[in-house]
Amino acid sequence: RLIKAAHFPSIKTVDTFDWAHPTSIPKHLVLNALRCDFVEQRGHLIFLGPGGLGKTHLAQAIGYAACQREIRTLWTTAADMINRLVASISDHSLDRALRKYCSPRLLCIDELGYLPLDQQGRDLFFQVISKRSETGSVILTTNKVFKKWGEVFQDNAVATAIAERLIENGELIKIEGPSYRVRKRKQQELGLAGSE
Ligand code: ADP
Ligand code: MG
Repeated sequence: RLIKAAHFPSIKTVDTFDWAHPTSIPKHLVLNALRCDFVEQRGHLIFLGPGGLGKTHLAQAIGYAACQREIRTLWTTAADMINRLVASISDHSLDRALRKYCSPRLLCIDELGYLPLDQQGRDLFFQVISKRSETGSVILTTNKVFKKWGEVFQDNAVATAIAERLIENGELIKIEGPSYRVRKRKQQELGLAGSE
């Protein structure tokens, strides 16, 4: 029931994750996170790295593990969450929409950084993060280092406030290496892998 309610885009686990692919990954932090102690401590996780390195994969695996531990979890992308919150303003249901993102014990926000946020978007993002620092955990995935968050939020003060709240009680999981998507395509071209 919790897995269904979390709305994961697909089910991924660490069993299918090839640790040897990234050139750098703090494996112990990921394995620790799978135990979900960080949720008990209302801590956060930030997956940082370029595209195709398994940030979404690992965030889903941890979200799935959280559901198995009866932790109410919700999956969203930064863009989808902001779109829904903005839409809720026009039909006067912002409070309800904010509750949706603030009440689960674990909120997974995928793909911060691909689209810049305007003033309304960053204010809403800030509201979710600051409300959540009292209520529960966030797993955030992003392709942008903290220094570039000012560009994402188009405002340095808000970017710093959001980053500080997440880092204060959070763990940074930085992944480096070439994209796994490209590797898979190359292998398929060479006839080395089945077309999955
Ligand atoms: P990101 O979110 O970092 O852009 P994804 O998690 O979406 O990357 O990964 C892209 C695809 O490659 C997904 O299908 C994912 O399951 C797969 N993938 C990425 N890294 C690995 C890995 N190290 N081992 C196995 N599959 C991987
Ligand atoms: Mg991703």
